[in-house]
Order: sequence, then C-alpha cells, then structure tokens
Amino acid sequence: MATKRDYYEVLEVSKSASEDEIKKAYRKKAIQYHPDKNPDDKAAEEKFKEAAEAYEILSDPEKRKRYDQFGHQGFSGAGGGAGGFSGQGMSMEDIFSHFGDIFGGHFSGGGGGFGGFSGFGGGGYGGGGQARPRVNKGSDLRVKVKVTLQDVAHGVQKKIKVKKFVACQSCNGTGAENGNSFHTCSNCGGSGTVNRVQNTMFGAMQSQAACPNCKGTGKVIDHKCTHCTDGIRKEDEVITLNIPAGVYDGMQLSMAGKGNAAKNGGVAGDLIIVIEEIPDAELIRDENDLIYNLLLTFPVAALGGSVEVPTIEGKARIKVAPGTQPGKVLRLKGKGLPSVNNYGTGDLLVNVTVYVPENLSDDEKKSIEKLKDSPNFTASKSVKEKIFSKFKHMFE
Ligand SMILES: [Zn+2]
Ligand SMILES: [Zn+2]
Repeated sequence: MATKRDYYEVLEVSKSASEDEIKKAYRKKAIQYHPDKNPDDKAAEEKFKEAAEAYEILSDPEKRKRYDQFGHQGFSGAGGGAGGFSGQGMSMEDIFSHFGDIFGGHFSGGGGGFGGFSGFGGGGYGGGGQARPRVNKGSDLRVKVKVTLQDVAHGVQKKIKVKKFVACQSCNGTGAENGNSFHTCSNCGGSGTVNRVQNTMFGAMQSQAACPNCKGTGKVIDHKCTHCTDGIRKEDEVITLNIPAGVYDGMQLSMAGKGNAAKNGGVAGDLIIVIEEIPDAELIRDENDLIYNLLLTFPVAALGGSVEVPTIEGKARIKVAPGTQPGKVLRLKGKGLPSVNNYGTGDLLVNVTVYVPENLSDDEKKSIEKLKDSPNFTASKSVKEKIFSKFKHMFE
C-alpha cells in the first residue's frame, strides 16, 4: 500500500492556512490537473483525486480537526468497504458532484457531473459545453450511535429510526401535482443556467450562473403538489447501519444518500453516524489494547495459581506464577480489539496489583507475625533492583 501524502502538503498550504486559502489552493490544483486539460493522463487524474480528498478533509472544520489530531489514521474507517461509507477513494463522479461549486465560472454547471465540465478545453472559460440543470442536494443528517466494546470487537449491525425528509410519493419528489404539472423554464430553456457576459480588461468574458427564474432546476411548476412542500415531507425511516469493527468514540462514518431528500427531486444528503462508545465495566480501552486491573490476594501472588479475568469473549483463566509482584503486566496476545482498517488486533494487558489485607483477626495477625522475620519475606538487593528497574526511567 502506497503511503499517503500529508493533506497540507498535497494542497501546498501551511497547517495554519485559513479556509479561504485552502479553497484557493484546491481550486488551483483542480484546474491544473483537471481531466479536460489532461486527457488520458493517469498521473494527473491521481493528483486530481488526491487534491479532492485533501480538500474534502481540510475544508470541513470538524474533519480538519480530526486530521490534525490523528492524521490519516483518523479516517481509515471510511471507504474501507463497510457498505456505503464514503470518504477516501472517491470516484471522479463523486468529486464533481461534491465540489463542482468550487470551479465557479471556470467550469459550467456546478453539480452536473462529468458532462458539465466539457466547456473547459475550448479556450476561455465557460462557453462551449452543454449546460446541465443544477442539482439540489438535501442536507446531511447526523445521528449518534452507542456501541459496546463487544460491538467494537466484532462490528455490529444496527437498525435506527430517524425522522427525515423523504421524497413525496404523490409527486415523485418533483413538488408538482401528480409529478407532471410543470413546464420547461422559458428563461433558460431547461438548462437551469444562464450565460453572463462581463467586460473585463482581457475583453468580454462569458460565465454561467444559475437561472433566477427556476432557481437552476430548469423547470417551473404550474400546480404544486398538495401532499408536500417542494417535493419533500418529513417521515420516519428505519435505516440499517453496518458499523465496522474497530470504531472508536467520536469517529464519524457517513452513508451517502441516506440523509434528507432534496427539494424538487434533487440528490439526497448523507447520513453522518457519530460513534459513542459505552465504557465497559471492567475492561479499559487504550486504542486497540484493553487493560484489566487484576487485584491478586497475597497468598495467590506468593504461591501462584490460576485466576479468572474478563475478556471480550467472556471469562478466561490465566496462570499466575509463584512470586508475582505488583506492577507486573501479563500480556494476552490478540485478545484486544481489531483496528478499524484491519491492521491487526490489540492485546489484553492484565495489570497486576496485590491486595494487602486491611483488617486482620488475632489469629491471622499471629500467623503473619511468625513469618515477619523469615529471610524469604525480605527482598534481597538484586530483587529490589529488578522490581524497581521498571520505574527508573520515570525519574530520569
Ligand atoms: Zn408531493
Ligand atoms: Zn430557468
């Protein structure tokens, strides 16, 4: 797997770049590597995609924050094949439909997908290409989903009920009565865009803008549908979520097209799933490792034995060697959590402490008194050193 370049490096901006600087930097790259300008150039296409991915993350304040904190790791869940999660690995179509707007006057028809950009190559801006109606996009929907450590270990399927805008069935989402009570906009001829000519110091420049008469849809409604407003209505919908293994608290997954439906038959927004981890009563999560604090009785620590520890898969018995010291860490390989991108599994670390009895009966006191002066109960110099060597670096 090729190593991913730093997003700031990709866009050639500093880590403290403003939103505007990032947008400008991306626009520059997108124009430079645009497929219309670099036909059949695989390397340019890769650069184009790389820049779009960097822009997708850095243009979103929340994603940028996560990237600053976790780097590429913070997004490794996305695009990883877990059914419908978007993010990395965007197709060219995705890039155009997501970021079409950024090209502004350079390429025609913002959200129009590939065809909308054909105007570029023909010298000058805008002009040539067949304009497409602008596509409305529904808003994104955010839901919090609680997961247990067991869910994190195995991945989980959850059904959730959300209240969201869905396309009206009576008018097929068009907002027009029976889905057919509309006519083509006469102002733009159905293209949804109008040409604007501006006189500049370089001469007349032509650019395209959304048609004000039909708001870029290319259609004018004669009779509105009486069952909805603008083709959408609020309803409950049950959505099945496939949460992959290895997710962590605060992680966001997105399902394309599962958000709110758009007005007048546009493209639905995304469903953003925010992971909320329910802490386990016994196991503490440390990234992909799990920690269990084991309190041994003094006799078991001294004599050795077998004790029960909780794991993700239920209780397990482990052997404790005679003379086990407090602070000893027993590592159960592979008994931790899987990483979200399938790069192996963490361990279960059993952190041993020894319980010293606080209340003793007279008999118990007598038994211990008898042992007090036995040389075996006093650590030799070398044993002392061995025990404390692990703390040494803390004070250096
Ligand atoms: Zn309707
Ligand atoms: Zn129009």
